Amino acid sequence: MGRRKKIVQECEKLMDRPEQIRNIAIAAHVDHGKTTLTDNLLAGAGMIGQESAGEQLAMDTEEDEQERGITIDAANVSMTHEYEEKNHLINLIDTPGHVDFGGDVTRAMRAVDGALVVVDAVEGAMPQTETVLRQALREGVKPALFINKVDRLISELQEGPEEMQQRLQKVIRDVNELIRGMTEEMDDIDDWTVSIQEGTVGMGSALYKWGISFPSMQRTGMDFGDIIDMERADKRQELHERTPLSDVVLDMVCEHFPNPIDAQPRRIPRVWRGDADSEVAEQMQLVDDDGEVVLMVTDIGVDPHAGEIAAGRVFSGTIEKGQELYVSGTAGRNRVQSVGIYMGGEREEVDRVPAGNIAAVTGLKDAIAGSTVSSIEMTPFESIEHISEPVITKS
Ligand code: GDP
Repeated sequence: MGRRKKIVQECEKLMDRPEQIRNIAIAAHVDHGKTTLTDNLLAGAGMIGQESAGEQLAMDTEEDEQERGITIDAANVSMTHEYEEKNHLINLIDTPGHVDFGGDVTRAMRAVDGALVVVDAVEGAMPQTETVLRQALREGVKPALFINKVDRLISELQEGPEEMQQRLQKVIRDVNELIRGMTEEMDDIDDWTVSIQEGTVGMGSALYKWGISFPSMQRTGMDFGDIIDMERADKRQELHERTPLSDVVLDMVCEHFPNPIDAQPRRIPRVWRGDADSEVAEQMQLVDDDGEVVLMVTDIGVDPHAGEIAAGRVFSGTIEKGQELYVSGTAGRNRVQSVGIYMGGEREEVDRVPAGNIAAVTGLKDAIAGSTVSSIEMTPFESIEHISEPVITKS
């Protein structure tokens, strides 16, 4: 059996174990390294060859994106990662890094429970860092921080340990100030500030594929001093082998981002204003895979063979081929022609996708990004608020 087939089978097994699922987004100001980081994760999970991470830009599926070098369409990918002797299914939704596509970013946030915010160590928090954080927090999505391009502080700016520490601390302080300001009045959210000691901050180099966090230091025995010495000595390959970025980030995702069972009871009242005492409300909060089917569509993609594909989060029930589902805002029902999950830029058909997962569905001809698709007529999800911001030109 091919490697890819094995990964699909593993994903299918894990789809039924919500405690082992993490639905996440990676969000960043343009050029801070989201695409390069994503490729590292895919390579670490065995989805693409290690050697091509950073060059392949697997998430940039549209030609237009590759030409322009920016990510436009929210793409989806599932991968597996072993953490504390348990395999985890990580459904990753890519978010566009360009200000013009703010609506897509917010839609992606609706489907996930955790957002990894990438910040360039040299540039620090930028206006779009603030925007993506706001979008995440409004949707009840928990943040974690990855400070990228730390290699530049060491090799290019030749900073000493103290200078670096000050700079990194400032990035963390700035991000926490934003988080605190945004969550102060949210009573369903505890302290969501990030911290090195708690393990919700990772740092490293997506380009050279190494990373470090408080837990990784304990695991690998490598501290910042070792990293500085090895980066300066140009031992980047060894650095990557001894403390691979993908492990640092995926461990952080499994440890600190909520699984659907923990996330949905808090998130449903925040994003769905239907009758809180109804059966479907309870099914969504419990991630009940036997309940009514409820899918929130976050993205419509086009496949040259299968036509339009609706991707989104299954909040309750199990979506399967042949179901007749209502599409909010339209009359009549659409018949599900196929269901699948994403692997890299490609869709893999599977028999069924249960609650708590991201599904790729064909046959929903009336659905648009933002539609609620369900087996009963129900109050649709809140329309997604587009947060606009001043236009920033790419440097
Ligand atoms: P995105 O716009 O956030 O997706 O950013 P990209 O992943 O496309 O990266 C933008 C640029 O920064 C590219 O030229 C990358 O090679 C470079 N880059 C990304 N990560 C790193 C890093 O860790 N170190 C250095 N030095 N450059 C990086």
